[in-house]
Amino acid sequence: MISRRSFITKSSLVVAGIGLAKTGISTNSFQNNKLPIVISTWNHGLPANEAAWKVLSAGGHSLDAVEAGVRIPEGDPKVITVGYGGIPDAEGKVTLDACIMDEKGRAGCVTYLQHIKHPISVARLVMEKTPHVMLSGKGALEFALDNGFKKEKLLTPERKAHWKKWKKEKRQFSNKINIENQEIENHDTIGMLAIDKDGRISGACTTSGMGFKMPGRVGDSPIIGAGLFVDGEIGGAVATGSGELVMKTLGTFLVVELMRNGMSPSRACEEAVKRIAKKIPDYKQHQIGYIALNKDGEYGSFCIQPGFNFAVKTDEKTELEDAEAWLKKL
Ligand code: ASP
Repeated sequence: MISRRSFITKSSLVVAGIGLAKTGISTNSFQNNKLPIVISTWNHGLPANEAAWKVLSAGGHSLDAVEAGVRIPEGDPKVITVGYGGIPDAEGKVTLDACIMDEKGRAGCVTYLQHIKHPISVARLVMEKTPHVMLSGKGALEFALDNGFKKEKLLTPERKAHWKKWKKEKRQFSNKINIENQEIENHDTIGMLAIDKDGRISGACTTSGMGFKMPGRVGDSPIIGAGLFVDGEIGGAVATGSGELVMKTLGTFLVVELMRNGMSPSRACEEAVKRIAKKIPDYKQHQIGYIALNKDGEYGSFCIQPGFNFAVKTDEKTELEDAEAWLKKL
């Protein structure tokens, strides 16, 4: 887990041509940032933020920024937890979940989508072109194809070999981080929040879900209020980690509601993690990471296990920050 992450940290920094990651724990990233700002989960947030920044720095809308941003890991086969090249399910199928939401409260989602490299763009079309919020499986695929998306093979030779090995070893799927994920990370969604120069906030979340998941499984990432929630008057939040825990506590909706009631983004993320710790008996065997951004551009994060980081980009900084962890606090 650590090795892949630190490898990506180094390589992403080189690719992005930026300085050192901020290694200290961001106990409270509560600061007055000038707008625009974009934040996103994990190391792959660095190049994703760069793509979002192109839109934001040109004065574009945050909705275009988050879509452009998360399309980077979606299209990158080296990111094995999102889009093309993602780890398949137990039957060897790559099935994708994504959602998008803007400052007006408009939302679109796709779940269990196969063969389409950029589910986030399909989710946006669901939002903009249909009377619905969510399309799933075959219907989502047909909608994508009708709207000009190309059918593509998403399972790369590397992931096929990985899956075959997994099958041969007759291993069972488990989302518990201390069992299945020790050798190789099998989850790491990209969730992104951005505010443009006009103060409009949008969010996007996209994933291939838990590696080797049960066929048909859908996680929190495409569920509004679980994997992502945005309220234009308050702010937004995104989640990563074992989606089942986020769904059971409606995590990002909770974070935004706590911010509505006056909490800082960091405190709200901490409270949402504490809710999981209170309600879910085996939470210690899982990782959950939340990031949140309020409408003034103040951001924060919190997670269960040490090891969750997120990328921040403003006019003044381009960096990775480590989230504070509940288990370290105990
Ligand atoms: N939340 C995602 C899911 O449960 C996985 C992740 O974020 O790593 O599908």
